[in-house]
Amino acid sequence: MLGKTRMALACPSSPIAAAKFVVVGGGIAGVTCAEQLAIHFPSEDILLVTASPVIKAVTNFKQVSKTLEEFDVEEQPSTILEKRFPNIKVLESGVRQLKTTENCILTEDGNQYKYEKLCLCAGAKPKLISEGNPYVLGIRDTDSAQEFQKQLTKAKRITIIGNGGIALELVYEIEGCEVIWAIKDKAIGNAFFDAGAAEFLTSELTSKKSDVIITCKRTRYTIEESEKEASAIASAGNLGSALGPDWHEGLNLKGTKEFSHKVHIETMCEIKKIYHQEEFKQMKKTSLPFPRDCQDKSTDKDTWPVYVELTNEKIYGCDFIVSATGVIPNIKPFLDGNNFMLGEDGGLKVDDHMHTSLPNIYAAGDICTASWQPSPVWQQMRLWTQARQMGNYAAKCMAADTLGESIDMDFSFELFAHVTKFFNFKVVLLGKYNAQGLGLDHELMLRCTKGQEYVKVVMQNGRMMGAILIGETNLEETFENLILNQMNLSAYGEDLLDPSIDIEDYFD
Ligand SMILES: Cc1cc2nc3c(=O)[nH]c(=O)nc-3n(C[C@H](O)[C@H](O)[C@H](O)COP(=O)(O)OP(=O)(O)OC[C@H]3O[C@@H](n4cnc5c(N)ncnc54)[C@H](O)[C@@H]3O)c2cc1C
Repeated sequence: MLGKTRMALACPSSPIAAAKFVVVGGGIAGVTCAEQLAIHFPSEDILLVTASPVIKAVTNFKQVSKTLEEFDVEEQPSTILEKRFPNIKVLESGVRQLKTTENCILTEDGNQYKYEKLCLCAGAKPKLISEGNPYVLGIRDTDSAQEFQKQLTKAKRITIIGNGGIALELVYEIEGCEVIWAIKDKAIGNAFFDAGAAEFLTSELTSKKSDVIITCKRTRYTIEESEKEASAIASAGNLGSALGPDWHEGLNLKGTKEFSHKVHIETMCEIKKIYHQEEFKQMKKTSLPFPRDCQDKSTDKDTWPVYVELTNEKIYGCDFIVSATGVIPNIKPFLDGNNFMLGEDGGLKVDDHMHTSLPNIYAAGDICTASWQPSPVWQQMRLWTQARQMGNYAAKCMAADTLGESIDMDFSFELFAHVTKFFNFKVVLLGKYNAQGLGLDHELMLRCTKGQEYVKVVMQNGRMMGAILIGETNLEETFENLILNQMNLSAYGEDLLDPSIDIEDYFD
């Protein structure tokens, strides 16, 4: 345990406070990092600087298997964190600038804080297809999700652009509103599925939505009026924390009409142009009706507030557009005057100790780009679970560096493992589940029962490299072990997926 140290301060203007450890960002990565540091150094002040009025806490954490984990996420007032960890001080203000030469951060409220070790966990922002267009919404945090819900109650038709997890969930959850879904790939959910899994799920979109009520595991913290104001200011700059796994469950995603799903998918296209109503009228263009309503290619009789022209030349009118085309790491406030090495995806490059390219500065979660040589069955994805794992590991690395100790790479980076729900199906993704980076030298094995389960394994040289499990397959633990131990499975052939063979017994 270290004694409390106060540094001699050299920043030019007062007041300047100092903490041995400063963490920026009140999302899962930042909060987990601060908690771990607080546990490692109970007599040291940990300063958590965050732009949002609430912080995100992991609750009901459950290690489902060696690498699969499940947890709930709660938005909490920062006082709860400070009560649980009296040595964490939360400061609610955005970081405006980072002066690495002076080991100092400047906050929006005009203060400066010195650090010995800093961890940047400022997350990512939605990549909007069009900035500043009132008809284009991005969903990132509670405020933007609520704004979306508000707009949806008045909508007859919306257009969703993007093919990641957010688009997938939205398309399934929205009821009573026509959805034109434009994706640049051949099949839905490209980041998560192959075409077969996409086909399995697409049929769910056309079948009637089940009436099963999924309980919302996350208890939302309702922000008080005064905090709502602050939250609105923070969200104006897109600074809130990203939402978590069950983000849509507290929201009633219902449009104006009385039907369940009405989704039309336009594949292999992107947005070419967006027209406002007036502009569209002036240009004397025509738009298409909702395809399911009309066999011929007649023009749409309705007028719409906004029109999208796709790269396949089709034009649709709609009430608004949801831009769900991924995120960009939120690095801007930290760049001025600092020569960080950046990844191709625009994140702060971190090494196998979560260390950025600048001294004493670490990064974790959506803001960073993992730049170490990864295990053959792990890849970075900007997900909830990885934000927690990185925040946790970054704190351990900061502690080890402070104490001059060595530290091994955390086991969670051995195997990519993610469990989620899409279209009300449990979905488990393991390792190179989409044969990412394996080239042509791999084979796939499949098992599928329509409406029930979809199992795919990716094999290379007789070894299991990845798997997608949709439905209640109970195969996750066995397959996780087979991927981790890289056992040669050539002898088992297709028995691996034979439903009449109890595979768990095989490998016990
Ligand atoms: C709609 C939506 C649905 C999602 N669904 C899933 C899902 O089902 N499963 C899943 O695994 N993942 C999902 N994700 C992704 C997941 O939410 C993120 O990967 C995760 O939240 C990243 O955590 P983080 O701590 O790195 O960043 P964030 O949670 O974004 O937190 C960033 C924090 O930094 C603060 N901040 C930003 N700028 C500054 C600044 N200049 N100064 C100080 N503080 C600052 C913010 O206020 C915030 O507190 C979803 C994301 C979205 C948007």
